[in-house]
Amino acid sequence: MRVAIVGGGYSGTIAAAAFARRGAEVTLVEKAERFAAGAAYSTSEPSHLLNVRARSMSALDEAPRHFRDWVEREGLGGGDTFVPRRDYRRYLAGIWEEALATGRVRALHGVAVAAAEGRLELADGTRIGLDRLVLAGGNYPSRLPLGLGVPPSRAVDDPWGPQGSERLRALAAQAGDLLLVGTGLTMVDVCLTLDEAGFTGRMIATSRRGLVPRRHVEAGDEPLPSPGPLPLRSLVREVRGTARRAPWRAAVDALRADSVAIWRGWSEPERRRFLRHLRPWWDVHRHRIAPPVASRIETMRREQRLEVIAGRISFAEEGAGGLGVSIRRRGGGEERVQVSAVVNCTGPEGDLSRVEDPLVRQLIASGQARPDPLRIGLDVDAQSRVLSSAGWASETLYALGPLTRGAFWEMVAVPDIRGQIERVAAAAY
Ligand SMILES: Cc1cc2nc3c(=O)[nH]c(=O)nc-3n(C[C@H](O)[C@H](O)[C@H](O)COP(=O)(O)OP(=O)(O)OC[C@H]3O[C@@H](n4cnc5c(N)ncnc54)[C@H](O)[C@@H]3O)c2cc1C
Repeated sequence: MRVAIVGGGYSGTIAAAAFARRGAEVTLVEKAERFAAGAAYSTSEPSHLLNVRARSMSALDEAPRHFRDWVEREGLGGGDTFVPRRDYRRYLAGIWEEALATGRVRALHGVAVAAAEGRLELADGTRIGLDRLVLAGGNYPSRLPLGLGVPPSRAVDDPWGPQGSERLRALAAQAGDLLLVGTGLTMVDVCLTLDEAGFTGRMIATSRRGLVPRRHVEAGDEPLPSPGPLPLRSLVREVRGTARRAPWRAAVDALRADSVAIWRGWSEPERRRFLRHLRPWWDVHRHRIAPPVASRIETMRREQRLEVIAGRISFAEEGAGGLGVSIRRRGGGEERVQVSAVVNCTGPEGDLSRVEDPLVRQLIASGQARPDPLRIGLDVDAQSRVLSSAGWASETLYALGPLTRGAFWEMVAVPDIRGQIERVAAAAY
């Protein structure tokens, strides 16, 4: 069986290994310089730590201690350590080398642009014959909303990309404050990058609610039993009740085992209500940051190098002293700031109509795929098979990882994706 995989981040790399183990002939296509890295693990910044403890970060579903053992062998710590993400890249590289050594995996550097009738096409004209196609395009870069009126010369749209991080370092060397749009995990990364690069100006971060990721505690709380797949309203009541009796982290983590079942049990209106009203709270409580990272962010806030404002940007205007930005505070009042640039920290783009990836566009335009109803990814069925514009599940086309959030919600981090990879490889092979 010939399997083509588009995307050589965590999902594509581990899927390649999983299919090769079963005997498939795998071609993995990656457009970036590096294989086995992707958006999360391309960073070389030592302060960018994993936001999950080593004991939970095994890349392989069948070997839960795989990463923890590697961490111990490398002398990086133990199961409770939050390892730098660049070290996780070294770990993934080892698995990738092993997959290549089987002789059943071929690495192709290029941009996948189109798929049809048993073949995949790359931008350079290469055609790959296939029996199965696995989409693992992952975290697509987002853009600052055009309506903000930030001129391109003052915008850093993709702080994870190689150009974006270069730009951040250049900005860090200049005088002038910076505006960060978004206050989640990307903001945390950007603050650390700027700090490491010696930035001395003020970082003003804004989002509608101004919520910042919470910290992991040093030793994890005892896990509580899951309340099971309840309707949204009952679940919120249940979690609030538990959080009054037990540490809130334990109440949130109790949902982990059943998060996919909970999401799939909700109706579309319930999912929409969750996204509209609860998502920002969920994100900061569920996707927490390592204690050393949290301490650095807290220090920056205490020293007023980082200011977090809950509000909405009402306009941005180019002036003599830089870009004048007006922020309408959530509780009322207007804040006017003068900045030298605006950094997009809104996180990956889920709405595929805004994604520039040619393959995603072609698959949707040709009716082979469609966005999910919530517009946070691609529509797939319970087996991760891509649904056509008419709603038919494909026999050959699968999707993995963050692309499948609409169907599973919590399918963004390694502990969730590794199980999906195994299920897809077992079903598709
Ligand atoms: C900054 C950041 C930090 C994170 N930290 C953690 C963490 O600590 N722990 C955790 O569990 N999860 C973390 N995550 C979640 C992350 O989504 C997963 O860990 C995992 O990396 C997802 O991998 P992926 O391969 O699905 O996506 P990606 O890593 O986004 O990889 C997709 C790849 O596909 C390639 N690609 C896309 N389209 C094409 C095309 N048309 N042709 C060729 N190549 C293409 C891209 O170049 C990219 O390399 C983090 C995510 C981000 C963004």
